Amino acid sequence: MNYRHSYHAGNFADVMKHVVLVALIDALRRKPSAFSVLDTHAGIGMYDLSGREAQATGEWHGGIGRLLDAPPDPGAPSCMGEWLDIVRATIAAHDGQMFYPGSPAIVAAMLRPGDTLTCCELHPEDQRSLRRLFRSNPAVSVHGRDGYEAVTALLPPRHAKRGLVLMDPPFERTDEFHTLAKAIIAARQRFGNGIIAAWYPIKHRAPTHAFHNALKDAGQRNLLALELTLRPPLDPSRLNGSGLLIANPPFRFEQSARAILTTLRHYLGDGETHAEVEWVVPE
Ligand code: SAM
Repeated sequence: MNYRHSYHAGNFADVMKHVVLVALIDALRRKPSAFSVLDTHAGIGMYDLSGREAQATGEWHGGIGRLLDAPPDPGAPSCMGEWLDIVRATIAAHDGQMFYPGSPAIVAAMLRPGDTLTCCELHPEDQRSLRRLFRSNPAVSVHGRDGYEAVTALLPPRHAKRGLVLMDPPFERTDEFHTLAKAIIAARQRFGNGIIAAWYPIKHRAPTHAFHNALKDAGQRNLLALELTLRPPLDPSRLNGSGLLIANPPFRFEQSARAILTTLRHYLGDGETHAEVEWVVPE
């Protein structure tokens, strides 16, 4: 396990994933009954952007860096402002130092009494950091286990009948798209009404099309793909874009997703940036 998210935290892909995550949690919060979130690949939850790893790549300057510096857009969807409030509160809680909240910290900040978050993180050191972060938060549990196995072991959630599964694997392995597709199918078999959000890299088109087709061929329905590409995905050695596949999206989420990506394209993109929201398979 060589992947460390500290090198990439706050980059354009994190921004896209985290703003959409806030929109999905907002949708869950519209109903009073409790919900559960399973974060299968959680990372360390909190990233020091002035640290050695983040400085080594500087990727966050093209992501959260652009949004913190930009004038607010009054037409932006509300989830953007909510997410930025969480980021700014995180920076304030660290005495103004540039710390960036990862997916578990964002979800934890949005839980209501009775809602729960379960995190899986396989890297021993990252797992320890995550446990430390949530040691006094009884609504959050941290498992040092394989997030893909957790899909069968921990679903359906024990504490709620509805919720979200976030799958955000590192794509270190060559078969990750295949494993992710299998995990999405397994998660839906066990948690039929759950929302699933699965992140995937867009380097070139062949693997993303194969991923979508594998799910389609397996008879999966109600799958919405959100994609933000910074440049045409032609060079397979570069992260050219960021994708999120949403299974069982909330009611009218397609419109919200379009508004989010249009705003992000404006902030994160340059001339070649493209945003797309498309049904891989409709309901
Ligand atoms: N979701 C996090 C966020 O948005 O802040 C970032 C997660 S990062 C992309 C992927 C994480 O998955 C890494 O911390 C890595 O150590 C961990 N990981 C890799 N393979 C795993 C597995 N099979 N099960 C659980 N965690 C895994």
